[in-house]
Amino acid sequence: MSAFVDFPQPSVPVSGTYDLVVCGGGLSGCAAAWNAAKRGLNVMLLEHYHKLGGVPVSGILGIISGLKLEKEITVDGLFFREILRRLEQLNGSQARDGGWAYRVDPEKLDLVLLQMLQEVRVKILLQTTLIAVGRDRREIAYVVTASKQGLEAWKAAFFIDDTGDADAAYMAGCPTQYGRPSDGKVQSSSLTFKLAGIDLEQAPRSMAEATALWRKERHMTPTNHTVITYLPGTSGEAAVNMTHILNCDPLTHEGQERIRREGMMQAMEIAEFFRKNLPGFRNCYVAQTAMQPGIRETRRIAGAYILTEEDVICGRDFADEIARSGWGIDIHVPDKVHGETPMPHFCLQKSYGIPFRCIVPQGIDNLLIAGRPVSATHEAFSSSRINGTCIAIGEVCGIAAAMARGLWKTQQIDVTQLQAEAEAQHGIVHRHVI
Ligand SMILES: Cc1cc2nc3c(=O)[nH]c(=O)nc-3n(C[C@H](O)[C@H](O)[C@H](O)COP(=O)(O)OP(=O)(O)OC[C@H]3O[C@@H](n4cnc5c(N)ncnc54)[C@H](O)[C@@H]3O)c2cc1C
Repeated sequence: MSAFVDFPQPSVPVSGTYDLVVCGGGLSGCAAAWNAAKRGLNVMLLEHYHKLGGVPVSGILGIISGLKLEKEITVDGLFFREILRRLEQLNGSQARDGGWAYRVDPEKLDLVLLQMLQEVRVKILLQTTLIAVGRDRREIAYVVTASKQGLEAWKAAFFIDDTGDADAAYMAGCPTQYGRPSDGKVQSSSLTFKLAGIDLEQAPRSMAEATALWRKERHMTPTNHTVITYLPGTSGEAAVNMTHILNCDPLTHEGQERIRREGMMQAMEIAEFFRKNLPGFRNCYVAQTAMQPGIRETRRIAGAYILTEEDVICGRDFADEIARSGWGIDIHVPDKVHGETPMPHFCLQKSYGIPFRCIVPQGIDNLLIAGRPVSATHEAFSSSRINGTCIAIGEVCGIAAAMARGLWKTQQIDVTQLQAEAEAQHGIVHRHVI
C-alpha cells in the first residue's frame, strides 16, 4: 500500500449490550445463538447478507452432509432435529440414502431459521457487517458493525465467531493459519447456482451418465464430474455445485471478482451442457446464482491443539471432544481440475472427535469459534468443514457460552459437564454406533 488518508475516527455509538454476540448467521452461528438463548442468555446475531443459513442458503448449496457414516450417527442435537422437523412440515427436505445427508430447500431453510431464532428472542441484525473488534486486555469488549444505520458498537460479555473466515478472531489478533503448507493456496472456490425448468419425470436420478458424457468433451469449467441436487418441494429446480475457480485467494478483491465472473461463465456453460445432453433438461435455465460466493477455505484459527490428517484418517478419540465427524478428506485441489486428484481417504472407517481445544482461539478469553475455521491443518480442515460437523460445533458453542455465564471466560467451562449437557440434548460427543 503506497498512500494513506487520515480517516477521522468518529465516536461510534453503543447500540446495545448483550450477554452474547454471535458474528455470522450461518447454520453453525444460528445453532449457537438458538442454544444459548434457550438457556436464558440475551443474544444478538449479526449477519452480512439479508438471509440466514450461510452457504446452504445464500450460497444455494441445498444440501447438508456428513450426518452419518455407515452405522455411526455423527450429528444429531436439538437444533438440528428442530430444523429438520420444520422443513419436513414445509415439504422442504429430503433424506438421501440412509440419511448421510439431507437435501434442503434454501428458501424454506432461511424462513425456518428466522422463525426459530425469533421464537427464542435472539436479536437479529441483517445486512450488517462486522468490521472491527475492541479489545480490553485478553477480552473482546465490543464489536463494530457497518450497516445502513452507519457504524455502531455492540458490547457483550461473550462472543462467538461464525463468519466462516474467523473474522472476529483475526481482528482480535488471535493467531490464524491460511492455505496449504507448501504454497499457502486454499481450496478452489465455486459459484453455485439454481437450475430451473427441469422436467423431473424425465430427469435421471443418477448423474453417472451425465458425468460420462461430460468427460467426453472439453470444457472451460475445471471439474471432471457433474453434481446437482434436486431441490425438494420444487417443481423442477436443482442446485448445481460444479463451477471451480482455481488459484484464487477469496479474501482479496481480485479473488471475489474472479469467483463471480468466471463462475458466471462456467454456470452458463454447464447449463448449456445439460440442455444439450440430458433428458428432462431441454428447457432448463440458470434461474439464480448465489449471492454468497462458495468459498471452501480461508483462515483457520490456531488453537491449543491443531487437528491433523492422521486424526481424521485413524478416527482419533479425544478426552475433550465436543463433536464427531465422519466425513473423509475432501480437498478441492487449489490449482487442479476438480476430481482428477482422487482423495485416498474420502471414506473413513470410523468417525473422529473434534477437541474443545480446537474451537478456542489463543489470546482471547471470551471467544469461541463456531463453523468451519476450527483449529485444523489444511488436510483435516477439508473434512471438518462439512455442514453436519459445523452444526454440531455450533450447538456446543451455544451450550458452552451459557456455561461461561458469570466470569465469561472459556477457561471456566468444564468440558466434562459440557459433554454431558450436549449429550443430554442428543448431541453426539462420543462415538455413537447404532
Ligand atoms: C461450494 C461449496 C460446496 C460445499 N458442498 C457441501 C456439501 O455438499 N455438503 C456439506 O455438508 N457441506 C458442503 N460445503 C461446506 C459447508 O457448506 C461450509 O463449510 C459451511 O457452510 C460452513 O459453515 P459456517 O457457518 O462456518 O460458514 P458459512 O456457511 O459461510 O456462514 C458464515 C456466515 O457469516 C456471514 N459473515 C461472514 N463474514 C461476516 C462479517 N464480517 N460480518 C457479518 N457476517 C459475516 C456470512 O454472510 C455467512 O452467512 C460446501 C461449501 C462450499 C463453499
